[in-house]
Parts: sequence; structure tokens; C-alpha cells
Amino acid sequence: MLLTGKTAVVTGGSRGIGLAIVKRFLEEGANVALCGSRPETAQKAVESILAENPDAPVMGISPALADESELESAFHEVAEHFGGKLDIVVNNAGISQSTPLGDYTPEEFDSIIDINVKSVLNGCQAASRVLEEGGVIINTSSMVSKMGQPSGVGYPMSKFAVNGITISLARELGPRGIRVNAVAPGVTATDMVASLPEEMIKPIADAIPMKRVGRPEDVANAFVFLASDMASYVTGAVLPVDGGMTV
Ligand code: NAD
Repeated sequence: MLLTGKTAVVTGGSRGIGLAIVKRFLEEGANVALCGSRPETAQKAVESILAENPDAPVMGISPALADESELESAFHEVAEHFGGKLDIVVNNAGISQSTPLGDYTPEEFDSIIDINVKSVLNGCQAASRVLEEGGVIINTSSMVSKMGQPSGVGYPMSKFAVNGITISLARELGPRGIRVNAVAPGVTATDMVASLPEEMIKPIADAIPMKRVGRPEDVANAFVFLASDMASYVTGAVLPVDGGMTV
């Protein structure tokens, strides 16, 4: 058990990669607060976990990721709920975009910056106020932060920014003993990808050196490593989990 006694918050923890991180953290002995965008989605995810393991130390919260002070209060409440301090903050919530440049609207640029960049920064700022020495921040980046994508420039733009936040804050918070890293998943079979027909998945998988798309658990395992003391001297890393796509 790599995370025994640790308390973690995972934003975007109600489904997809975030839910897989929540489940793996619980398996490794952590107490976990998962954030949903609404109280109902957070509660539904908590209930699905409790249905499998009624004793799981999990709670659902839904702070506005756009509001740093609300996040900070939520982080304090989570620490209090689990009777100790907060150790791990995962800023995972995000959206993607695929709009061609000519069709982009200012509102679309704003929304991807608000959710994928400002929310991550807010989560890091709130974490920096609550975490103590030994604390860990992990942000979800993407393989497109290395290779771009052919349409929807806002998405890789936002993930380049996530890498910038991660690397800079590793330097700023390192002297306080707080590690800051990112995981950069490749194509991962969350609900949206997993529901695509085989003929759409195959050409995607064929382009990946490992010849398959990632499973949410593949990605979640990298978060476990970075959150654990196994990574005690790792900070400022952007760890690819993409089957070799960006090699
Ligand atoms: P998903 O759509 O299944 O989950 C996204 C999560 O973010 C949900 O829990 C959702 O509630 C939350 N969220 C979105 N907007 C929010 C908002 N405004 N306020 C609060 N919560 C909000 O997607 P996913 O594939 O699990 O993606 C999770 C992260 O992984 C994202 O940052 C995404 O960019 C990144 N990522 C995904 C892939 C992939 O192939 N699935 C690849 C690379 C990176």
C-alpha cells in the first residue's frame, strides 16, 4: 500500500481518468475526496464506489474550481473530515476542443482557459496554502502538450500552460518540500473513447507504438507513483503515459 494514511483531493474525480485515480488511491490506502462539477455527480460517483466497498474512506465535494478561496475552504474541510492534514491535490478536471481555427469563438478560447488553465492554477494556489512539507500536487496534462493537434488549438495551448505551471511551481514550492508534477496521458479509453466503434479505434491504436489506446488504470498508476514516497525526489516532471506516442 503506497498511500496509507494520506489524504487526497481529486478534481474531475466523478468519471473517466479522475475516477480511476480515485479508485487506485483508495486501493493504496488513501482517504479521498472526489470533486464533481455538481453535488449530484460527485454523490453518484461516491455511491458507485461505496456499492463495491462500503467502508471506502471517500467523500464527494463540488467546489467551484473558478474560485480559489472556495477551493481552499474545501481543502481544509477535507483535511478536517479525515481527521488530519491534506497530503495530495490532483488537478485533473478538464475539457477538450476540436474546433478549426477559423471557427473559434472568443467564448471557446475563454472556456478552455478558464477550465484547463485557471482552474489548475487555482487548485495549485489553494494547495500551496493548505499543504505542508511532504505535500504533493499532480496536474493532468496531455500528449498534445508535446505534439499539438491538427484542429482545436485551444486544447494543446491549455496543456502547454499546464506544463508551464507544473515546472514553474516545482521550482517555487520545492524549497517548502512540496513536489509538483504532471501526467501527460495519450488517447485513453474513458467513456467517450471506449464507446467508439472498433473501426474508429483501430486506426488510432495502429498509430501508437504499443498498438492500443490507454486504459484509465494505466494513467491512474502514474498518479499513484507520483503521489507516493516512491517519487520522493521527483518534481517538475511531465510524465508521458501514452504507449510511446510522443517518443
Ligand atoms: P471526462 O470528460 O471523462 O472527465 C472530465 C472531468 O472533469 C469530469 O469529472 C468533469 O466533471 C470534470 N469537469 C469538466 N469541466 C468541469 C468544470 N467546469 N468544473 C468542474 N469539473 C469539471 O474526461 P477524461 O478523459 O477523464 O479527462 C480527464 C483529464 O484528462 C482532462 O484534464 C483531460 O484533458 C485529460 N486527458 C484525457 C485524455 C483522454 O484521452 N481521455 C488524454 C489526455 C489528457
